[in-house]
Amino acid sequence: MSAATQFDVIVIGGGLVGAATALALAHADLKVALLEQRRPAAFDGAAGFDARIYSLTPKVRQWLAALGIWQQLPQQRIADVQRMRVWGDDGGHIEFDALESGGAALAYIVEQAPLLDKLWRALEAQPNVSLLTPARPEDLAWGERDVALSYAYEGAGEPAQRCSAQLIVAADGGESWTRGAAGIEVKRRAYPQRAIVANFEIEGEHGGTALQWFRHDGVLAWLPLPGRPGQISIVWSAQEQTADELMALDEQSFSERVQLAGGGLLGDLRLTGARACFPLRLLRAQELVRPHLALVGDAAHCVHPLAGQGVNLGFEDAACLAQVLSERGPQRDCGDFYLLRRYERARKENVLLMQTTTDALQRLFSKDSSWIRRLRNSGMTAVGRADWLKRRLAGHAMS
Ligand SMILES: Cc1cc2nc3c(=O)[nH]c(=O)nc-3n(C[C@H](O)[C@H](O)[C@H](O)COP(=O)(O)OP(=O)(O)OC[C@H]3O[C@@H](n4cnc5c(N)ncnc54)[C@H](O)[C@@H]3O)c2cc1C
Repeated sequence: MSAATQFDVIVIGGGLVGAATALALAHADLKVALLEQRRPAAFDGAAGFDARIYSLTPKVRQWLAALGIWQQLPQQRIADVQRMRVWGDDGGHIEFDALESGGAALAYIVEQAPLLDKLWRALEAQPNVSLLTPARPEDLAWGERDVALSYAYEGAGEPAQRCSAQLIVAADGGESWTRGAAGIEVKRRAYPQRAIVANFEIEGEHGGTALQWFRHDGVLAWLPLPGRPGQISIVWSAQEQTADELMALDEQSFSERVQLAGGGLLGDLRLTGARACFPLRLLRAQELVRPHLALVGDAAHCVHPLAGQGVNLGFEDAACLAQVLSERGPQRDCGDFYLLRRYERARKENVLLMQTTTDALQRLFSKDSSWIRRLRNSGMTAVGRADWLKRRLAGHAMS
């Protein structure tokens, strides 16, 4: 076993949230290690749109810009969402407009591949960051003053390595090894739905508008992609049986089903690239911090994608943790429990609000009773007519 290297913080998991956390902490002058099992592929811009697309809030965009990342993204591959139109399953309707809400855009549609690539390149350029990859954690030993991590690089015959830090950040996703190693309990519930994502060329014009349908068999979202010919990215959170049927269809029939489900609003659709399917769950870690440990991103919370907020919440975790640590003063160590509790208190309410709202909407639209159907649709239309409430909702979603 090699001699231990000492860091201020070790982030385990280098997906979008872990990589952004490591970068934000490095900007706060901390000595950081990022451990990731798979180094992300370099993005060369040659391929078509990534099937993994995120709708990012203006607040997250601003934070990514402050980290120096937003400016480096290929701007011609980002779409501004100017309007959003949402339908219920029985005549309910609501619309949001960026101008009416006082912003430049309601959201920004960004691909995973370039965002992850830019984050990793920025990390490589930071002298105070060590990238431990491709590697997996093997053991965590919690001490009074720090935590020792044993890990192994992928590949036969590599000896186990050791390093230590004042703080371990778990950013290793919904099935977090780190959270399990700390013995933190989670509340979880699988949704009886799976999300299918795919990209399409469209015959009509999307005009920067996102469209969403709350259907009896799930939630379908069409998100605008930039450029010509017009393209959209879809997320269809469908009941399991419907999801299986949709995944089994050939390309032409799948395109027709998606087109039909959206009432043909954008004309003919033509599938470009592969479809992917994801299980959906609600997950909440019972503690966000312990002495020398903090959870961020999906390791801390998973939400239904109907509001497109999962990674936004994770980036907000990262921003909040970096701010708390940068304000800790010269004496205090990064793993101090009372310091970390500040992060937990700051994040708990927002996360809970997003989880309960998306969960309640998912449940409300899954119920198959005629009076509930009438109620949810008239409620949606009533909110749409109350300008002040609509502005508040849009303002909340954009901030
Ligand atoms: C269909 C769908 C659509 C979505 N759309 C949106 C959207 O529009 N907007 C939005 O905000 N959110 C959206 N989300 C949510 C978003 O995808 C997640 O919240 C986000 O990807 C979580 O990022 P993360 O970095 O926390 O976790 P992950 O992306 O799961 O990353 C975890 C990382 O840890 C690494 N790792 C795991 N275990 C280990 C280990 N033992 N050792 C080393 N490394 C490890 C993994 O390789 C990975 O790189 C969507 C989700 C779904 C399913």
